Amino acid sequence: MRVTTVFNRILGLSGASVCSVDFTTDGLVLGLRRRRGRRYRCECGFSTRARYDISRRRWRHLDFGATKVWLAADIARIACPACGIRTETVPWARRNARHTRDFQDVIGWLAQRMDKTSVARLLRCSWEAVDRAVRMLVADHLPTDRLDGLYRIGVDEISYKRGHHYLTIVCDHDTGRVVWVTKDRTRKAFEGFFTALGPDRSKQLTAITMDGSPIYMPVAAQKAPQAAVCLDPFHVIKWANEALDRARQANPAVPPLPAAPANPASPAAPASPAKQHTVAQVNAPARAWRRLKTALRSGAENLTDDRRALINALRRHNYQLFRAWTLKEQLRDLYRIPPEQARRYLRRWITRAFRSTIPAMRQLATRLKKYFQQTIAAVELGLSNSRAEGINSKIRVIQRRGYGHPGPDSLTAMIYLCLGGITLNLPTQT
Ligand SMILES: [Zn+2]
Repeated sequence: MRVTTVFNRILGLSGASVCSVDFTTDGLVLGLRRRRGRRYRCECGFSTRARYDISRRRWRHLDFGATKVWLAADIARIACPACGIRTETVPWARRNARHTRDFQDVIGWLAQRMDKTSVARLLRCSWEAVDRAVRMLVADHLPTDRLDGLYRIGVDEISYKRGHHYLTIVCDHDTGRVVWVTKDRTRKAFEGFFTALGPDRSKQLTAITMDGSPIYMPVAAQKAPQAAVCLDPFHVIKWANEALDRARQANPAVPPLPAAPANPASPAAPASPAKQHTVAQVNAPARAWRRLKTALRSGAENLTDDRRALINALRRHNYQLFRAWTLKEQLRDLYRIPPEQARRYLRRWITRAFRSTIPAMRQLATRLKKYFQQTIAAVELGLSNSRAEGINSKIRVIQRRGYGHPGPDSLTAMIYLCLGGITLNLPTQT
């Protein structure tokens, strides 16, 4: 079998065949020959036999073992009556891409699962190549009908670049997908979503969840007046945790710790006992404080024995803070009880919070009194599930993974790639 035939079989490209094989310092370069007398195609669908000019181009393809592989071919520019002077499309690569479709698909599949720096290192390409591939894949694969059939949506903001910039994100509660991402957290940004949605689809909306910010509420009231505005459970619980934090700061007494963390499985560390002792002494208050914070933050159902003991100790030594923790847990129950009881339950919770005389909890009660309707609407419309929270925490992961998303466009593309309902097939999946 001829060597070119071997590579033809391996590559399996349509519309081109391997005519030369060269080992260079860059790796293996496979020269491609296109069908003679072919029509040159523009992206818009126009095709012609007349070319404007021609040049040689290389595309990075998936490695063969540890060897980098490049495809090289002549590529024509054509004068398209609609688009002007354009490079012809080739079957193995996207327009203006320097990597083949297969290579970019692998980038995208990996980028859905790991950070871009690792993807770049694994595939031996630049971070920018990963970034560019992600954007091209999103442009190619993002479902165009994603704004159809929306009934219950959530709007939220996320900050990036240390909180100096924001994106507005709209998600579909019924599919759990992100359907719209745009720069800024302004009325105009959210209005842009309704412009894209159009009046007919806006009329279909039954519920819009959001936080208590005054930015999105008036827009929702104006553009979809029939939809119930709901306070995102995720934000309510976040407020409760923040109130609990303030209560702890106002009343920082840490209860005496239940004896050393129960960790009978691991034997004592072999370090010198004297040194251990000093370290433990120095860090003890800080550690106790951290442990208490973690214990307070975790839900009652997730408490480990250790943390449960800490909360019980709190009851005896810092009743105020214990009370604040109890109130937080009772507020979480609002989203677990039967919806028809929610109204009464929340009213009673607000009364209890006011009576607690804990300033942070009273502030929270004032806030929930103000947004009583919106809080209850979320429960009654069945939006108390943790889907919104799920999306929110996934976005945080994307953000954390992307350390150094150079700008909103990169972050937006990653959010769409991971949460926009894009399914990528690996070239090895047939
Ligand atoms: Zn064209």
